[in-house]
Amino acid sequence: MGSLNALEQTGGNSFWKDWITDGILPSADTIGRVFSLIAIEGLRSVGKHTYSRLKRNKALRPAFHDNLFAVIIDGHESNASYLRCCPDCLQREIKTGSGIKIQYYHRHVMAVLLCKDFVLLLDLEMQRPEEDEVAAAVRLLERLFIDYPRAFDIVMADGLYARAPFFKVVTAHGKHIIAVLKDERRELLHDAMGIFSQEQPILVRDGNITRQCWDVEDLTSWPQFGENVRVVRSLKTTTRKRQKTGNEEECVSDWLWVTTLPKTMLGTETFIVIAHKRWDIENKAFNELVTYWHANHVYAHTRIAIEAFWLTTMLAYNLFHAFIYCNLKQAIRTMYTKSYIARAIATELYQLKKPVSVKQPP
Ligand SMILES: [Zn+2]
Repeated sequence: MGSLNALEQTGGNSFWKDWITDGILPSADTIGRVFSLIAIEGLRSVGKHTYSRLKRNKALRPAFHDNLFAVIIDGHESNASYLRCCPDCLQREIKTGSGIKIQYYHRHVMAVLLCKDFVLLLDLEMQRPEEDEVAAAVRLLERLFIDYPRAFDIVMADGLYARAPFFKVVTAHGKHIIAVLKDERRELLHDAMGIFSQEQPILVRDGNITRQCWDVEDLTSWPQFGENVRVVRSLKTTTRKRQKTGNEEECVSDWLWVTTLPKTMLGTETFIVIAHKRWDIENKAFNELVTYWHANHVYAHTRIAIEAFWLTTMLAYNLFHAFIYCNLKQAIRTMYTKSYIARAIATELYQLKKPVSVKQPP
């Protein structure tokens, strides 16, 4: 609904009284206050329970391999304001027409499990003032290793995470990592490009796209990490006619990744396809969360409330997608959009009014 007041206005207490044990819907203020005081670990344990049930029921299948699961780690900025802030707000200076202004914002790192049919949102960690995104991601990973020790084999992340301390945390727990390789790792990049210039590219097809790819293992040029790494490059060059001038324009898409995964575990072709698809899937998940689930809305401005509302939204997202992919037949899924199915569920809630069973969930 995107606001707690909308919840109050949707039929008010007359509608909700059939659904709530004591029949009284708390006010928007009370819901905000409760979410600011809520025990976050309780919400996390419901998330873990959802994962375990799906896993036990064999509803989770790896996205790109027979038995390797990958988790994506990525940062997300949820809101920004010049006016409203809390003690846990991050700050930055922004140049505006009327001089430099302080902008307040919140940012978190999320862990998303890539599955064949849908992505499962596992957990998130809020970035604290005076720390960077990678520090928050390390805390998140340490918790994932405890809460979801066998859920994933590979961690995928963007260029910001191609740092020795982060790679060490991942490998210390027996997991592999794939990160985008950027200029910051100049020596490694330079050595890999030197080898690639001597080698014929491998041609990898993904649908109608053909990419020139290079793949080299056992590079020793990242001493800070202390282990040999593999670098994979994917180059795509296409020409496009500019509508205005009619001139042909060359479009280059050049990607490099650094990884601890050996070729024997994940060959070049699969590596390239999944490394590119990863952005797709992630963009779709974040885009849907923000656009349709109002995930960026600040219902109550405290760190705990923001975290608790995100975890609740993630739970709703997971249950909704698990329902679509585990309970609906393929024919129904292709016939209707997700928003249609969401509206159908809402309509049934309104029509049924009274829940069929009010037993405590197992
Ligand atoms: Zn704040």
